[in-house]
Amino acid sequence: AAPATAQVGVAGLAVMGRNLARNLAHHGYAVALYNRTQTRTDDLVAQYGSEGTFVPSTSLEEFVTSLERPRRIIIMVQAGAPTDAVIDALVPLLEEGDIVVDGGNAHYEDTRRREAALREHGLHFVGAGISGGEEGALNGPSIMPGGSREAYAALGPILEDISAKYDGEPCCAYMGTDGAGHFVKMIHNGIEYADMQFISEAYDVLRAAGMAPTEIAGVFQEWNTGDLDSYLIEITSEVLAHVDAETGKPLVDVVVDAAEQKGTGRWTVQTALELGVPVNAIAESVFARSTSGHPELRAAARAALSGPTGEPVKVDMGELVDDVRDALWASKVVAYSQGLDQIRTASQAYGWDVDIAEVAKIWRAGCIIRARLLERIRSEYAAQNLVTLLAAPSVSADLATAQDGWRRVVAHAVAAGLPVPGFSAALAYYDTVRAERLPAALLQGLRDFFGAHTYRRIDREGAFHTDWSGDR
Ligand code: NAP
Repeated sequence: AAPATAQVGVAGLAVMGRNLARNLAHHGYAVALYNRTQTRTDDLVAQYGSEGTFVPSTSLEEFVTSLERPRRIIIMVQAGAPTDAVIDALVPLLEEGDIVVDGGNAHYEDTRRREAALREHGLHFVGAGISGGEEGALNGPSIMPGGSREAYAALGPILEDISAKYDGEPCCAYMGTDGAGHFVKMIHNGIEYADMQFISEAYDVLRAAGMAPTEIAGVFQEWNTGDLDSYLIEITSEVLAHVDAETGKPLVDVVVDAAEQKGTGRWTVQTALELGVPVNAIAESVFARSTSGHPELRAAARAALSGPTGEPVKVDMGELVDDVRDALWASKVVAYSQGLDQIRTASQAYGWDVDIAEVAKIWRAGCIIRARLLERIRSEYAAQNLVTLLAAPSVSADLATAQDGWRRVVAHAVAAGLPVPGFSAALAYYDTVRAERLPAALLQGLRDFFGAHTYRRIDREGAFHTDWSGDR
């Protein structure tokens, strides 16, 4: 066999794997290449071979032999069964101490299962969430690895090297054992769903008030210079300014208004329900996508239901723009708060010991939700152990300022019959968690009435049941 010359390998050379392999090569690593369909490997070498040192192989056996030990293998294939197929084929070829990384969008429970199985074989399994799309994979993604600390010691420096940098700091850090990395990536995507829903609602409110897409593009561009500064706000102004070459219309007017999803938002909400973490703003964002994608439901409802019939709601455009900015910022803070709460809860449940400040730190660049806000979140969590982001001093102060505009936007939208499920769910959460008393007290009374489920009292310890028969 040829001598082992590659320092790291990539198995799966579709758009993500190819770009990750090139990124590794750009950083001076000799990269072993393997793809089930040989043409992808050949194409990579033919097109980009001059960019660095690639060691192509025609079989998994050859691929494994070409790697220095302990082997570091990054799998970048479709999540689910394809990932298992590649792992199953690899394992018999590996030796104790070798490290297998899954860089795909795996469910964290799959990662936990795979990590345990590979540990039995004396192998390390690292579930690494990677965000930033194909551009990020090539030029520096945000990387969220989970697994053993030992594996991170051998692998971390390489991943940190190829990750995005924020003020020179790598957007890659050890997240915790087994599924921690993929869990954090899942929450990243859940927050991304919410962020995008809020942005869409902001656009919708301004559009309904009479602004043209190009004008709204200008508003987003302006917002991108302040507290809302983020990748998603930046690309929103680009998408809104884009004109369809064929029709001359704003592109946003020729795109079908049915949002699609690949499943990480759904996983976030399913997991939140299982863990008992309230993430209603993220959940509404997932439901908003699914509602948009139900043409029959929408057609039947459109034909049967009416909206507000009074005078159209009059607005001062300048004030509305400011209020929408506040609604967007405050809602975004709520979504981050909910997602981080979910990470904190899962971390306790699974014993991951995830450092939230580190999570915020590696989301500051490279990933889709990168935003100015993340540096503030990082420093707040680094300074103290927060139960909720909303209680961070600088955050609660800014929410206090933003809330009036936020409420006006929700009230305006409700009066005008415009759906703002994200803004209003986030506001409902804000008002629920800060309430002195909740009507849950009445709810407990009802549960005790029909099911003898008992209730607790504010003035005594213990469980109480009322004999309701005398009240009838
Ligand atoms: P993809 O379309 O998800 O997957 C295609 C790759 O999987 C090809 O290399 C294909 O090999 C391989 N594959 C599929 N089934 C296989 C099997 N049974 N055995 C061996 N190989 C198999 O590719 P991608 O878009 O580059 O994404 C890769 C991973 O990164 C996914 O898990 C994805 O969720 C995740 N991800 C993607 C993005 C993104 O922006 N696209 C961002 C973050 C994370 P063949 O060439 O032989 O078909």
